[in-house]
Amino acid sequence: MDIMLGFALIDEDGVLSWDDMTTDEENLEPNNLPNKLPCRQKNTLEDTVEADKDRETIVEHYYDIFCDKYLDFTDENPTTFHVVHYFRSLLDNNGFQYIDEQLPITKDLAAKINNGGFFYTIRGGLTILPFIIGGKWAPESGAGIVGSHIDAITNKLKPTSIKPDIEGYNMLGVAGYSSGLKPAWLDRDLGIGGNIIVQNDDGTFKRVLVKSPIPIAKIPSLAPHFHHSTHYNPETEMVPIVGYTEGTESETEAQQQEQFSSSHPLAKRHLFKLLKYLAQISHVAIDDIVELELELFDVEPATRGGLDSEFIFAPRLDDRLCSFAAVYALIEVSKQFFLDRSIEDYDGLNMVLLVDNEEIGSGTRTGVKGKLLNSTMDKLLSIKQHPTSVNSLVYSNSIILSADVTHLLNPNFKSAYLAKHSPLPNIGMTVKLDPNGHVMSDYVGYNLLRTITGNNGLQIQQFHIRNDGRSGGTIGPQLAIDTGARVIDIGLPILSMHSIRAMCGYKEVGLGTKFFKAFFNDWRREYSNYRGL
Ligand code: ZN
Ligand code: ZN
Repeated sequence: MDIMLGFALIDEDGVLSWDDMTTDEENLEPNNLPNKLPCRQKNTLEDTVEADKDRETIVEHYYDIFCDKYLDFTDENPTTFHVVHYFRSLLDNNGFQYIDEQLPITKDLAAKINNGGFFYTIRGGLTILPFIIGGKWAPESGAGIVGSHIDAITNKLKPTSIKPDIEGYNMLGVAGYSSGLKPAWLDRDLGIGGNIIVQNDDGTFKRVLVKSPIPIAKIPSLAPHFHHSTHYNPETEMVPIVGYTEGTESETEAQQQEQFSSSHPLAKRHLFKLLKYLAQISHVAIDDIVELELELFDVEPATRGGLDSEFIFAPRLDDRLCSFAAVYALIEVSKQFFLDRSIEDYDGLNMVLLVDNEEIGSGTRTGVKGKLLNSTMDKLLSIKQHPTSVNSLVYSNSIILSADVTHLLNPNFKSAYLAKHSPLPNIGMTVKLDPNGHVMSDYVGYNLLRTITGNNGLQIQQFHIRNDGRSGGTIGPQLAIDTGARVIDIGLPILSMHSIRAMCGYKEVGLGTKFFKAFFNDWRREYSNYRGL
């Protein structure tokens, strides 16, 4: 049987497209993905594929493909706004239909959801929830949900970022987002990106995505010769330098600035030089800029590393890594409905919830406490003509995976880790356990995932903190509070969490994608063996 198989490609401009290819049904297993390789190692890998068709090589290519896709995604999408935009395009290109949260559900859309299909919703450009719903889905079928966060530690532009020049140096006022203004951000090449808010002619507003193609800022450390302590004051000693103005400005520049200053509301809040630069890279007239939603980011590209290229070295792994794998897994699952499965006859509901603001406690409308999951579930129940009082029926039959990166064993600090509870690279997903409620996994959930991974040729690792350490937080506890569903905390292991750059095994992206795909396919069948537990 010939079927259409989509494969994501990213062209030189960073535009993502879905390339359809015809292949045989038997080649659809993830280990047999087509020999069409995007981006970084394209030529070398294509040559290898031509030369060597054995299964082991193809297995290896699966991980190369997903790793390279992830590296490109990281470089092209430095901010949470960019990440949501990327996933939106990816979902659009794969037949997912957008549901506008601000509009009533039309009869036409309700009919489509009732028949079964692929959908997504977005709130505020910062949280996104794609899902697959079968035509035969009923509340007692529950839902298989992967929740992860897409915010990453950064430094955001202050409402008034303008600061007095210091001996000609132009400085930029930024505020640490979570642990942003920490020594890890010293001496890095920093770009600026996010959104420019613009007013249209009809009085409405829009956002224009922007990112600087080159680094524009640096937070320099003080050389050791000055005997400064390793602690830097984040308000006074970590102010980014964004330029240097030698002597007086030219007459034209001074005139431009004076004209701008007399009329524009942002003139007293941000450097004219910054606004001029943003106007130039976004192709928005400087007078049309209404507000800025910007942050700094590490411009150094994500890369493979290690003598055998067995690692990824990248910024923002926490947590674009699990998020990326979860969305690709959902898309891979959606492709199965082009085969012998009919979406009309399918009784499942699988969702990916990607939220903002986990790093600052989630208490925003786009964070997990904004409850986009709950309101979307209410909407589905109403479309299916069930009262929202059956919510507990749905959630008590659901499994939510709270996916957030965890701690890979650091060989320099082996004693800081609990023996037999320290994940290693390129092996697989890790379940996080903790008796004190920082994470939500229980042993039913652990066993469920062990069964699913075992049945799919995957492995699962475990992480538990030492008694003299403390677990970090995740969105897991909030999801459990908001739904009452069984939540299992899991994550792909990384080193240097919360630093500006981190590292992990190169296979983690592919292993994560396989893991989430196995979960979406198998969770319902396996979980029915645990009724009442
Ligand atoms: Zn995280
Ligand atoms: Zn974190």
